[in-house]
Amino acid sequence: MTNSVELRQKLVAAVLQVVESHAEELTSLDQAIGDGDHGINMKRGFEAVAADAASLTAKPWPEFLKAVGMTLVMKVGGASGPLFGTLFMTLGKELPLEPSQDDLVKAFRAAIVAVQGRGKAEPGQKTMLDVLIPVAEQLEGGNRDLDALAAKGHAAAEATKPIKAIRGRASFLGDRSIGHMDPGARSSALLIEAVAGVLKE
Ligand code: ADP
Ligand code: MG
Ligand code: MG
Repeated sequence: MTNSVELRQKLVAAVLQVVESHAEELTSLDQAIGDGDHGINMKRGFEAVAADAASLTAKPWPEFLKAVGMTLVMKVGGASGPLFGTLFMTLGKELPLEPSQDDLVKAFRAAIVAVQGRGKAEPGQKTMLDVLIPVAEQLEGGNRDLDALAAKGHAAAEATKPIKAIRGRASFLGDRSIGHMDPGARSSALLIEAVAGVLKE
């Protein structure tokens, strides 16, 4: 991966685009099993990142990712802000200045472990982890194909539908959470698709 301001700018733009164009969908998923703010939360967070893009993207990868994570923690309320914030901050902490593919795979796993530590959730509890973990496993298994990675994320988000929520607001619904896709799983799959799309270019 090149230490390129342009690549970071493209990533910020792609992530903002996907979050804005799916904000209503994310909110309606969250209306079904949560409090109906996930689209708004994601939009607020990534709009703040984009508003600061000129200064953020000028930083090298570790500082850039830490700053993105801190922005999400500060600007996004709810569960998802601190959790996605932790994901990005840990990526920043783990990555060297010029990361290789292997560095990225290792840092992604470390970031997921940090999210698990923060949210006290396990896989299979109908959260963002149910997308992040299968995607990490596919990478660790040696499949680095970016289209396959995006497809894995979307399939994993689909697979949260039959799960009964054990963590987060959706757990308040008990069995009534069954049959709905987890909003944070959906947004994770969308973020992965957006990042994969840029890296593929
Ligand atoms: P809130 O639930 O506080 O309104 P959001 O609606 O923005 O926050 O985000 C909800 C999403 O956060 C859920 O769909 C789920 O994927 C994720 N989430 C909630 N709690 C946890 C947790 N403890 N660990 C991992 N992810 C979680
Ligand atoms: Mg919510
Ligand atoms: Mg909320």
